[in-house]
Amino acid sequence: MTVINKDTAVLKNYINGEWVAAISTETLDVPNPATGEVLANVPISTKEDVDQAVSAANEAFKTWKNVPVPKRARILYKYHYLLTENHEKLAKLVVQENGKAYKEAYGEVQRGIECVEFAAGTPTLMMGETLSNIAENIDSEMFRYPLGVIGGITPFNFPMMVPLWMFPLAIACGNTFVLKPSERTPMLASELVELFSQAGAPKGVLNIVHGAHDVVNGLLDHEDVKAISFVGSQPVAKYVYERAAAKGKRVQALSGAKNHHIVMPDADIDKAVSHVISSAYGSAGQRCMACSAVVVVGDNDKFVKVLKQKADELIIGSGLDDEVLLTPIIRDSHRVKVLNYIKTGLEEGASLIRDGRKEMDEIQEGTFLGSTIFDYVTPEMTIAKDEIFAPVLSLLRANDLDEGLEFIRKSRYGNGATIYTKDAKAVRQFREEADAGMLGINVGVPATMAFFPFSGWKDSFYGDLHVNGKDGVNFFTRKKMITSRFDY
Ligand code: NAD
Repeated sequence: MTVINKDTAVLKNYINGEWVAAISTETLDVPNPATGEVLANVPISTKEDVDQAVSAANEAFKTWKNVPVPKRARILYKYHYLLTENHEKLAKLVVQENGKAYKEAYGEVQRGIECVEFAAGTPTLMMGETLSNIAENIDSEMFRYPLGVIGGITPFNFPMMVPLWMFPLAIACGNTFVLKPSERTPMLASELVELFSQAGAPKGVLNIVHGAHDVVNGLLDHEDVKAISFVGSQPVAKYVYERAAAKGKRVQALSGAKNHHIVMPDADIDKAVSHVISSAYGSAGQRCMACSAVVVVGDNDKFVKVLKQKADELIIGSGLDDEVLLTPIIRDSHRVKVLNYIKTGLEEGASLIRDGRKEMDEIQEGTFLGSTIFDYVTPEMTIAKDEIFAPVLSLLRANDLDEGLEFIRKSRYGNGATIYTKDAKAVRQFREEADAGMLGINVGVPATMAFFPFSGWKDSFYGDLHVNGKDGVNFFTRKKMITSRFDY
């Protein structure tokens, strides 16, 4: 295993099978958000570091693309074994650098391992299609080929799962990869690459370049990078999509979210509250599938009362404490933005029924904020429209399901939405009309698993092919058609 918390070491890039120091000497601290303790320093690499990594990946591609597909898949089986063996260790590292609760981090590691399971099926997934006799004595065949070097750019909130959405499948399909992890949670990537090399990945197949904007731009502009897989906030996703597409690259850019949960009058209140609480406040609301807006249908003050009661009871603290659900916000700079949203909510006339700033003032260490609830939010308010990405929940009141669905339609985002009800007719109407790509029926976090595409809509996604599932295979391969005549 690589360096963790050793005299706040400067992390290294991984290029052509070697740990190498970045050319630039500029670094950023990587603090534990629960304590402020600096765990490591991350180098802010430059375009020159990117060029070295892309050149290594391009060279490795020449041989890797010809390695038989089942042989490539066998490395994934070994990788799966190593990740499973290190499950707890990886989860603890996620808690350290991201701050989320251990149980959630453990689940994140599991979600990542499932991506490797899926990618190990590449010999089947990469199969082409054939049709004999498409015309007299003529057959058609389709084969899939890798693209070349792929660039992956990932966010802070899932340092394990999101990189594993990308590189195992890309590499199993015969591509080589350069990963730019989030500079706020960069340590786990070192573990992932170390274990991948132990699994038998040849040098240059997976490379890491740490850093920020310059590394991203270096990947977007490099002519040898054939596709970009990005996950992060909306403005950056749009920027990445436009800049990479202008360079002729294939792009999938997963973006921000504002996920609505509709609570119907017949919903089981205790169960609905329990799902909303863990969806809205787990990982301090820093999940792209977090519930950030609840649409309360009908005059359901009882739901609001129980929700507030449960929010009052939440234990705040370190993710290593089993009792804790509400963990820290990633950085103080982000918390400052969140506090401005709370001010704006008040100025725009929403009713603050639970103010998490109280707990923030009580806890001196780390970057915490207590659970916060605004009631009587309207779709026009800033707090209803923007992704806040924090433990701040908006309650919107609707007369009926039609009005609730209209609120979802009005949102620029369309990652996920959930309904709580026992009414089959309402479920069907919700399934047909909710304007979002991942729906939950009595499910608090309807995030899809590796076998299906992660399917955000509207401004929650830029591109055509989503990550994971068959979309992932299509994204990481290009097709070649052969038409053969046999009466020659
Ligand atoms: P972010 O956009 O700040 O950073 C994501 C990546 O982009 C990082 O690697 C970062 O270094 C890079 N980056 C940031 N600003 C840049 C710039 N100006 N130019 C070039 N590169 C830049 O996102 P984050 O705060 O790390 O992650 C949280 C966001 O990600 C939320 O909006 C969340 O909804 C979203 N997210 C979406 C999904 C999804 O599936 N749709 C999944 C996870 C996270």
